[in-house]
Amino acid sequence: MEILVKPCGEFFTNCYILDRKIIIDPGVGAFEFVKEYAKNPIAIILTHGHFDHMWDSKKIKDYFQIPLYIHKEDEFFLRNDPFGFNPPKVEADVLLEEGKINIGNYEFLIRHFPGHTPGSITIETDKEMFSGDFIFDGSIGRVDFPYSDSNKMKESIKKFLQIPYDKRVLPGHGATTTIFKAKKFLPMWLKYI
Ligand SMILES: [Zn+2]
Ligand SMILES: [Zn+2]
Repeated sequence: MEILVKPCGEFFTNCYILDRKIIIDPGVGAFEFVKEYAKNPIAIILTHGHFDHMWDSKKIKDYFQIPLYIHKEDEFFLRNDPFGFNPPKVEADVLLEEGKINIGNYEFLIRHFPGHTPGSITIETDKEMFSGDFIFDGSIGRVDFPYSDSNKMKESIKKFLQIPYDKRVLPGHGATTTIFKAKKFLPMWLKYI
């Protein structure tokens, strides 16, 4: 699978384009990136509802007339930004839960990892996991935000530690890591949160 990435906006939020078709987390300014590199895209998927991950969703959804996917517990962020940045409001088309989903010819595994937000998810292909702000290279997402929950984050980390296989992990900010590497540094974070 071809994966293109562009860090967008002042928080360098990674927008990914998979096979020129699937757009993950289109943040501030992602519209230009998507317009240049996507070819007849078919969906936008958000790892969670924070403004820096969803900002250009409205523009892209309207321009390409494609559906927006987000976990059902983060849908409220699309209408209500608790940080006061006021991103363009947008409506979700598909509310996700944990499990497999098919979009076009693609199958993705969605896992629910609440903590950073109530509806944070990871999105898996055969070889990759898009981890949003749940797991970064060497660290985890903040749990001191409105609607964050440190206890749920602990449970999510424990759940992640049970994943038996390795894949490349592509986070919402910063560099990539892998599931096996994350399983080494995550136990330390259980003590800090
Ligand atoms: Zn976030
Ligand atoms: Zn973020």
